[in-house]
Amino acid sequence: MTDIKYPAFDGTQACVDSDVEDFFYQDWEGEGSRKYKDNKDFTNARNICNSCSFIVECLQWALHNEAYGFWGGTTEEERKTLRRKMNITLRNPLKDILYVSKKKR
Ligand code: SF4
Repeated sequence: MTDIKYPAFDGTQACVDSDVEDFFYQDWEGEGSRKYKDNKDFTNARNICNSCSFIVECLQWALHNEAYGFWGGTTEEERKTLRRKMNITLRNPLKDILYVSKKKR
């Protein structure tokens, strides 16, 4: 398994002061998690990511580790397509936790 490191964010990433709602389908005011999925417009997030110096490492991280949200200039669906084309398996953090706890016994 490829060990992809979390990007070395230093506070200069372009999304640092952005509205989190631009990056997720979720409605943070409690209207239901994925209710707006079909109509979600990620134009703001895409523009922000396109100006970010971390876009390459952010996308690399997200391809391996992030099922949800807009990361590295890509939507969840775009990353699914890229994973298929690049033969990348999304890491399952729960599986890692279970593996570590099993090893400790
Ligand atoms: S590429 Fe996008 S999501 Fe990733 S750090 Fe930059 S602005 Fe944030």
